[in-house]
Amino acid sequence: MTLRKPIGSHSGPGTDFDTDTGSTIDTGAMLADLRTLVEIESPSRDLDALAASARTVAAVLEDRLGGRAALIESEAGPHVHWSAGGDPSVLIVGHHDTVFPLGTLARRPFTVENGRATGPGVFDMLGGLVQAIHAVASLDDRSGVEILVTADEEVGSHSSRSLIEERARACGAVLVVEGAGDGGALKTGRKGCGTFHVTVTGRASHAGLEPAAGVNALVEAAHQVLDIAALGRPGIGTTVTPTVASAGTLDNVVPAEATITVDVRVETAAEKERVETAFAALAPHLDEADITVRGGIGRPPMPESASAGLFALAKQLLPGIGGVAVGGGSDGNFTAALGIPTLDGLGAVGGGAHADHEYLVVGAMAERARLVAGLVHAIRSVHDDCDDRGQGRSGRDA
Ligand SMILES: [Zn+2]
Repeated sequence: MTLRKPIGSHSGPGTDFDTDTGSTIDTGAMLADLRTLVEIESPSRDLDALAASARTVAAVLEDRLGGRAALIESEAGPHVHWSAGGDPSVLIVGHHDTVFPLGTLARRPFTVENGRATGPGVFDMLGGLVQAIHAVASLDDRSGVEILVTADEEVGSHSSRSLIEERARACGAVLVVEGAGDGGALKTGRKGCGTFHVTVTGRASHAGLEPAAGVNALVEAAHQVLDIAALGRPGIGTTVTPTVASAGTLDNVVPAEATITVDVRVETAAEKERVETAFAALAPHLDEADITVRGGIGRPPMPESASAGLFALAKQLLPGIGGVAVGGGSDGNFTAALGIPTLDGLGAVGGGAHADHEYLVVGAMAERARLVAGLVHAIRSVHDDCDDRGQGRSGRDA
């Protein structure tokens, strides 16, 4: 990938982006920090590994940005929060957990070769994290910037959601440094997503001696799978996909229990509501069978309206950059659903998220960091203007 001219040298129509983003962004230094973070290994749910990873993230933040990074303990491991102080105006959101179990590093050590960095978590999303830290480091004035690095994004963000929402409300604009879409595209929309677990309860009996005395949970589950699959409306972006099922105990026993797991993706709040209501209303087909449903659509959809303003700014900063709406969720879903301007996919350029062929394009790191720096600067300029005009405040207080 070829590098375009530095963002600091570009002035979009009617907008002055000659900013305080002039400091050099050093790809070698970013790679050194990336190596440090990758070599910790930080699988979700491994509390010891996440504690070590959080301390390391905090050390990198403090080393590059000064100040203090706070560790916020949670049942999912520590989240890390750094704030420059001043009137909060931009929240950069990332996560330090990865999907790769301990030991992946031994198999796939951190390597830079042929313009690509590889190793567990380089693309999703330690690379984006490092780029964001160096982006903020390149700003002469960092006031109003906050960086929140959570420990549980890959497992649903249950322990970080309220913190993300609180800081997003305080800041009023959110940049999510998840990996980019194909070709470096920003993520301008995300489907809402969730998982449902359906348990069917029947009654066991001998399949040879008295099959009629049983209530076959597997047969009931088969009815339910078809009913559930019919809830999908792919034409408007709703997919409802039964993914895992199990039933029964032994060859000659009428099964007393069956379970079905279902992946759901929706593009609108109305569809979230419709699908959740439909799951709650699932009814048994067999007499005496029983159905219970757990789960829901935990991440609401991130509508493209939430990213439109920030995406327009990004296109001024980096003409030609694309935007794409994707099916996968992120922490941007939460902030966008609150109506807070949110732009995602600002992290690493690369591919292979969650897979062994994951990689990061080294040649794009500096450009992406400059993009984040330019966005932070532009958002703060707008924020300060609004403060001066609308609320009579005297601008930044740090
Ligand atoms: Zn991620």
